[in-house]
Amino acid sequence: MDEIKSRSLTELQDELIALKEPKYRAKQIYEWLHVKLVNDFDEMSNIPASLREKLKENYILTKLKTVRVSESKIDSTKKFLFETSDGNYIESVWMQYHHGNSVCISSQIGCRMGCRFCASTIDGLVRSLSSAEMLEQIYEITRITGERVSNVVVMGMGEPMDNYDNVVKFVKLLTCEEGLNISQRNVTVSTCGIVPGIKKLADENLQITLALSLHAPNDEKRRELMPIANSYSVEECLAACDYYFEKTKRRISFEYALVSGVNDNDKEAEELIRLLKGHNGHVNLIPVNPVKERDYKRSDKARIFAFQNKLEKNGINVTIRREMGRDIDGACGQLRRTHNEETSGVQK
Ligand code: SAH
Repeated sequence: MDEIKSRSLTELQDELIALKEPKYRAKQIYEWLHVKLVNDFDEMSNIPASLREKLKENYILTKLKTVRVSESKIDSTKKFLFETSDGNYIESVWMQYHHGNSVCISSQIGCRMGCRFCASTIDGLVRSLSSAEMLEQIYEITRITGERVSNVVVMGMGEPMDNYDNVVKFVKLLTCEEGLNISQRNVTVSTCGIVPGIKKLADENLQITLALSLHAPNDEKRRELMPIANSYSVEECLAACDYYFEKTKRRISFEYALVSGVNDNDKEAEELIRLLKGHNGHVNLIPVNPVKERDYKRSDKARIFAFQNKLEKNGINVTIRREMGRDIDGACGQLRRTHNEETSGVQK
C-alpha cells in the first residue's frame, strides 16, 4: 500500500478516477491532509463514508508517534523525538526566530556518510524516510505547537542527496499552493557534497537554498573530517555550487563547523577566503557541537570571532550560526542516540 501523503494532487486525482470516484474529491482529501492536517480518514467530514472506506483499503496514513519533547530553558527551541511505524526514532527541531518559525527535519534514519564529528552517522544508515514521513515531522510539530511553520531546513539526520527522489518530492509537496504552501525560498537543503545530486537539484527548477557542508578549506583537511571528500574534491563541489547559482540565482550557504585546533586557525581562514572569492554565497560558521563519542572540541569565542573578522575584512559574507536549544542535547542525532541507549541498551 502507498502512503497517501506522498501523493501529489495530480497523482491523487488520477488515482481517484481509477477508483471510479469524482476527480474533485482529490482536492478535498488533499486539503484535509495537507492544510487541515487531520490524521484520520474519518475526520474528513465532507467525504462520503464509502470513499473513506476505499481510502482506508488503498492507502497508508503515515503517522509519527511523539516520544519526547524537550524544551530549552534558554530560548524557545523544542526538540522532538518521533517514532516511525516500524519502530525507529527520528528527531526534528523547532526554532522561533523573529522572521518566523523554523523546523529542522531529518531525511533518513541514521546516515552512511561517516562525517567524523556527527552523531547521526555513528551506527550507519537504517533506511531513508519517505516524503510523507518528512512532511509529517512538520505537520505533527504544527499540531502540537499550534503555530504555522514558515521555514524548513533539511539539516537533521541523514544526507538528503542519498534520498534524492523522496526529498525533491517532499519539497514539492511542502511548497505547493494546495498544501502548506511554504515559500520555496524558505526551504534549505544541506548536503555533505554529493556533486551529481547538487547538479541534478539545480535542474529541478526550484527556488530553494542549497547549503554545502564545507568544513575545510582544502581537500586534505576535508578528507580528515568527511569521507565523502574522497569521492568529490572541493573544487568539484564549488563548480557544482556555481552551476546551482547559475540555474537558480540562489546564493549558496557554505557551512563551516569550527573545530578547535583542526580547521580554525588564521592560515585556514586565509585559505578559505582565497577558495570562496568569486563564488556566490555566504559562510555560516557553526561552533562544533561536541559529541560524546568523539573528542572534537568547539573553538573558543575569541577564535570564532577572529575567524569571522578575517573573512569579513576580506569581503566574504559571513554569519555565526545562532545557537538554539544548546541545553537540550547537542548535535544532530544525539537525542536519538541517548533515547536508544536509555530504553534498550541496544543501538538501533
Ligand atoms: N547530511 C547533510 C545534512 C545534515 S547535517 C549535510 O552534511 O549537510 C546538517 C549540518 O550539521 C551539516 O553542515 C553537518 O556537517 C553539521 N553537523 C553535523 N554534526 C555536527 C556537530 N557535531 N557540530 C556542528 N555541526 C554539525
